[in-house]
Amino acid sequence: MEQTHIKSILFTPWRLPYIRAGLRHGISCFICQYLREGPEKDDENLVVYRTERSVVIMNRYPYSRGHVLIAPKKHVPSIVDLDEADLEDYAKTIKATLIAVKRLLKPDYVNVGINIGRVAGAGLEEHLHVHVIPRWYEADNYVPDKFDEEKIFEDMLNICRSLRKEIDSIIKTIS
Ligand SMILES: [Zn+2]
Repeated sequence: MEQTHIKSILFTPWRLPYIRAGLRHGISCFICQYLREGPEKDDENLVVYRTERSVVIMNRYPYSRGHVLIAPKKHVPSIVDLDEADLEDYAKTIKATLIAVKRLLKPDYVNVGINIGRVAGAGLEEHLHVHVIPRWYEADNYVPDKFDEEKIFEDMLNICRSLRKEIDSIIKTIS
């Protein structure tokens, strides 16, 4: 089982355009770009949810179905750069997202992680983000449907919209 997990994490060829684009264009922050573009483009940008100080975004080059990123709205590299109000909002958003992902996608387990500092190929080391990656024991070898980008986007948009509703109802219950 352990080997399967390692394999599924390493074999993610659909991430290559993302990594290559990052190398070609230098580091540009898509989180800030999506925030700037505004809520009317949230479906197109696969922005799941905006709180006062945080944002949840679908990972376009996911390690698994339902892989989302949670970031503070502030373009800062680390959790130590957040003030108390940011942290409170961020923690709440992470909690609501986790609950929503579990309810909606019913994974066997979830990987939650933060990379701080430069990561080869990540291209996004300047804007703090937490990965929430739902995982399934049986279907862990996630491969998008023959790299059909339209179908993958459609599936992501469906998850994005469902998660948005779910997070919206959950976040109101978290004090
Ligand atoms: Zn940014």
